[in-house]
Amino acid sequence: MNTDALTTPRALATEAVHAGRDDLAGLGLHAAPIDLSTTYPSYDSRAEADRIDAFATTGAQLQGPPVYGRLDNPTTARFETALARLEGTESAIAFASGMAALTAVLLVRSSMGLRHVVAVRPLYGCSDHLLNAGLLGTEVTWVQPADIAAAIRPDTGLVMLETPANPTLAEADIQAIADICGSVPLLVDNTFATPVLQRPVEHGARLVLHSATKYLGGHGDVMGGVVACDEEFARSLRQVRFATGGVLHPLAGYLLLRGLATLPVRVRAASATAAELVRRLTADPRVARVHYPKLGGAMVAFEVYGDPHEVIAGVRLITPAVSLGSVDSLIQHPASISHRIVAEGDRRSSGVSDRLLRMSVGLEDVEDLWRDLCEALSAGRPARTARSAGRAVRTVHPGRAESEAVRTGHRAAR
Ligand code: PLP
Repeated sequence: MNTDALTTPRALATEAVHAGRDDLAGLGLHAAPIDLSTTYPSYDSRAEADRIDAFATTGAQLQGPPVYGRLDNPTTARFETALARLEGTESAIAFASGMAALTAVLLVRSSMGLRHVVAVRPLYGCSDHLLNAGLLGTEVTWVQPADIAAAIRPDTGLVMLETPANPTLAEADIQAIADICGSVPLLVDNTFATPVLQRPVEHGARLVLHSATKYLGGHGDVMGGVVACDEEFARSLRQVRFATGGVLHPLAGYLLLRGLATLPVRVRAASATAAELVRRLTADPRVARVHYPKLGGAMVAFEVYGDPHEVIAGVRLITPAVSLGSVDSLIQHPASISHRIVAEGDRRSSGVSDRLLRMSVGLEDVEDLWRDLCEALSAGRPARTARSAGRAVRTVHPGRAESEAVRTGHRAAR
């Protein structure tokens, strides 16, 4: 093990390719090994009893050889180490999906009797649904950031938000919200920004959630979720993961570790293309509004004057599919797919208009993407009408309050 690596601060780009792999050269290896074992032999049951007791009591990562695949896995542990380094946290705990990761966080808090969650819309549709339906026995209060303090109760176990949010790209001031939360843990879903653009823990968040399925994997071929946090919270998450079984498959752990190596390069390249597409979309008469965060990034959302379903049907190079963060570009209609499960009124009041399209910009050449988008927009037809032509089309960098203005503006345009 190269202990220097753990003490000398390293830049994000360096961590991306080295974190979680610092021991490889000493093992005579270059690529990380994949350990697919579900169980591990041990001739010393007394020692195993002690180790299992220690895990049951503390949730600390098992020392020594692994015991069973639901407890821990060496390949997944490499991914966890690497992600923690990128997010600047003590620990990270990986799960089978982003939803499994959120479920574990909610179970940790509700098992302490803290069943109330304060959350800011919009969230990814299924996260919204998990909270709103109270599937895990939790109760949610939906608020604007300014109302978080008033919504916190003695049994509030979590404050949750996404920034930039899915799908409107609304941004929130993490530090200001963390200050309001006080001792209540603030969970920030950092799936859209990734640690390349934003490290929520540096701004006071206690928990950072990722759908690792997206940018962390980066190639549309692996599902996973991860929570980056302090070791105290990580211990509770390990215990919940062991008891409920939402583990990441080791092959997924391997693919996620490999994905992290190119994360900074992918995010920066796709973000540059996205910014250029935003510039062109903003000037396009077929587009009513473009949503793009001040933070930047590779996600773009825009509202069209024409039929959004025809735009989806019209793409040829861009893949018409839900999900995001892949090397290739994807486009989808949130009101039909990613946020379909959210009640129409709740969707609309959080800025998810029926004319909104969400695009995940990949690594293709910008001219090829623009050509495809242009043809698809023509398939969706109407350009700005004479009535609306006087109103300047602009890019909005939606803060939470602004998303209300966007919605109102959109109604006026119809
Ligand atoms: N968080 C965000 C922002 C997402 O976009 C998604 C999925 O789209 C999730 C969480 C859930 O992740 P998963 O699909 O890996 O369960």
